[in-house]
Amino acid sequence: MPQSIHILHMFPDLLNLYGDKGNIACMQKRLEWRGIACELTRCTFDERFLDFEKVDIIFLGGGSDREQKIVCSALLQYKDKLKAYVERGGVLVAVCGGYQLLGKYYALPDEKIEGLDILDIYTEHGSPRLIGNIVLQSESIAQPIVGFENHGGRTYIGSHTPLGKVVKGFGNTGESGAEGVRYKNVFATYLHGPLLPKNPQLCDTILEQALKQKYPDFTALAPLDDKMENQANTYMQNIILSD
Ligand code: GLN
Repeated sequence: MPQSIHILHMFPDLLNLYGDKGNIACMQKRLEWRGIACELTRCTFDERFLDFEKVDIIFLGGGSDREQKIVCSALLQYKDKLKAYVERGGVLVAVCGGYQLLGKYYALPDEKIEGLDILDIYTEHGSPRLIGNIVLQSESIAQPIVGFENHGGRTYIGSHTPLGKVVKGFGNTGESGAEGVRYKNVFATYLHGPLLPKNPQLCDTILEQALKQKYPDFTALAPLDDKMENQANTYMQNIILSD
């Protein structure tokens, strides 16, 4: 039977800073190139989504403080379902504002945005904003992860495992040397925009986790010709590290 993966993009209308949705296109293409079908559902702010049982990957992008406040109440309706989805090993990719909302709260100077409490983390607004290119080294992914970050929030991850160690850049707090969180099949990060096109090994790790969850016999993805993608990744590493 042909394999297929169902991606749910939550709030693409509000959480899509720097074109985070390009990451969806990257996952779709890397599946299709291997003959794996990909179904995509977009759940906008005005819609309701209930069938988390039928989803293999959930994507939550980044947004400004204003958009996060708007999304927050809608997202909290799904709190129990999303928590259950994560605990049973569902794949969740969350970027920046989406990452912050997975925690207990995001404290702004004048208010506290309640989070989903999926991760035992919290975020506090700080100054200055942490902006720039970043390189990480993850324990489980050989290829260094390159990207761009722009956040006022400082995220304290307690005993969670980070997505990677900061080689250059700011990361979760600008001081901890940690970036993002990797918990079960949650990949949470401050790295914006074309995260997955820039990091093909990270993209494939995410896809493999989703396929392993859905198909217990699944072993590994067929390799792709990633010469150009890998060159682009190395080029960015060199630029960022020599800066
Ligand atoms: N509003 C959050 C912050 O500035 C997240 C911003 C973003 O998604 N870039 O910390």
